[in-house]
Amino acid sequence: MFTGENLVPRIRELYRKIDSAYAAAAEKIGLTCEGCNGVICCSVDLTLHTFIEISYVRFGFKMLEPSLQSEILTRSRWIVDAKREAPHGDRYRTAVCALNFAGACILYEYRPMICRLAGIPHVFTRPDGSEAQSGGCNKFEETFSGQNPEAKIDRSVFYREMAAMEIEAVRARGRRTEKLTVSEALVIERCSEGPLFL
Ligand code: SF4
Repeated sequence: MFTGENLVPRIRELYRKIDSAYAAAAEKIGLTCEGCNGVICCSVDLTLHTFIEISYVRFGFKMLEPSLQSEILTRSRWIVDAKREAPHGDRYRTAVCALNFAGACILYEYRPMICRLAGIPHVFTRPDGSEAQSGGCNKFEETFSGQNPEAKIDRSVFYREMAAMEIEAVRARGRRTEKLTVSEALVIERCSEGPLFL
């Protein structure tokens, strides 16, 4: 039976592996976040694709002080409204993730996979065998890519593990999730429906 209780250790273990792979790659390159303003990478458009990660962000959110939860919900509603009003408008495009406080993630331990892996270029193999890749963050591309043309993290194994958990979640809920931004995941109440809610 797939429940919130066994979700937590499983996702923590997957995140531990991701963090470890990222730290090893970053150390090899010499890439750190030092000198970055802590905001530019925390775009409001980072999207969660799975019940697993949506549930885990919401789980972390519930650990916060009520006043902090309230501030985050106010921010999130503002962001969701701005997106509804004009997804390509400046109001939305220049906003920062609702979980970013003074340049740092308030839910660092619960942040999604995409936040953990951003920075270093990546590659992954799709289920049909084709390969996809993408570059690193601004700092990597401007300062480190020249000396590290081969630097890449292969995300395939992480995506496969997440997909395996998500298949169980989809079975438990009887439907697939919508793709949601962090703010949407926090304010859209239907995210909490069903047996995955923690
Ligand atoms: S969840 Fe945290 S790390 Fe990810 S974009 Fe938001 S503030 Fe940044």
